[in-house]
Amino acid sequence: MRCHSCLAQSAKIYCPKCMKELFGGRKVSGLSFNKQEFYQKRKEYAKRISISGIQDKLSLAFDEHNTLVTTDIEGRYILKPSPSEEQVDNSHDICANEHLSMQISKQIFKIPTADSALIPFSSGELAYITKRFDYDKNGQKLDQEDFAAVLAYTSDKQGKNYKYESSYEACAKAIQMYIPASMPALEDFYQRIVVNYLIGNADAHLKNFSLYRAQERKDRSLTPNYDLLYTRYHILNEEGYMGLDLFENEMDSPTKAFEAMGYYTLEDFELFAEKIGIKTKRLEKIFERILVSTPEVIKMIKHSFLSEKGKEAYRKNYEERLKLHLCYSIEQYGFSGKMQKVIDRFL
Ligand SMILES: [Zn+2]
Repeated sequence: MRCHSCLAQSAKIYCPKCMKELFGGRKVSGLSFNKQEFYQKRKEYAKRISISGIQDKLSLAFDEHNTLVTTDIEGRYILKPSPSEEQVDNSHDICANEHLSMQISKQIFKIPTADSALIPFSSGELAYITKRFDYDKNGQKLDQEDFAAVLAYTSDKQGKNYKYESSYEACAKAIQMYIPASMPALEDFYQRIVVNYLIGNADAHLKNFSLYRAQERKDRSLTPNYDLLYTRYHILNEEGYMGLDLFENEMDSPTKAFEAMGYYTLEDFELFAEKIGIKTKRLEKIFERILVSTPEVIKMIKHSFLSEKGKEAYRKNYEERLKLHLCYSIEQYGFSGKMQKVIDRFL
């Protein structure tokens, strides 16, 4: 069978490596409760719970028998089952979609990414599980702040859509301000934006990026990547392309390509790299990694737990975003992409 975490061939539901990474070597083969019990617990905890979002979530922890149980304090895992078909389109694929997106980020693009897997309820239905990263090895809680907090964006000041009211450029400026030796973090951040763009995540808003630091330390770093999803497969009429604008002031920096197409293409991504200080040589490396990885992405989509329809939609979206959007430049506007040579080599 396939390992329900890394998707490689495995004798058991999780291969030994993932069993260790995810569960500290405990022999986990599934949950001891079903989806109905999940919703009962969810109701009980509702008033005290701090994790939020459109999908229902619960914290899990190991009890003294090494069984994963629901908890409302100090959980080490987050469990997200699929919502009902009335809530979102293709809801049966949502867990496999998030799991695949996380594995693409982690395994193929080597972006630090939260550990994740699919795990069966006692009824057999698969749910999405992710390991929390805001505890260190000794169980110490790390100080974590999402970018809404970092930039001091609140519903009081920016309105109820506050988490969509900023830009990736503003986030990059915060990274420059708060992370010492910020260049590797900026390159990491840039790559996260591109990957979100390619997988069709229109919900990469301020709360889906965070900084954290150990309690006794001053320096912060980007947390692992989390909440990755090809959202357009589930929410058809969703507005926006990524969640945030690329540029702080879109009015000051509309590229001709953007004006013509209405979405970001090569010209915008090159301008964005320039604005946040990524050197051409480094940008070439990033583009090279992205372009050379396409066959691996296609292969991983095939091995994922998505339905056949889901696999086809995921692959089609990815290839379209890559070829017709990210790597697309319009010659008649006099823009010659610096990355064109890299693109020509691999596409
Ligand atoms: Zn594995």
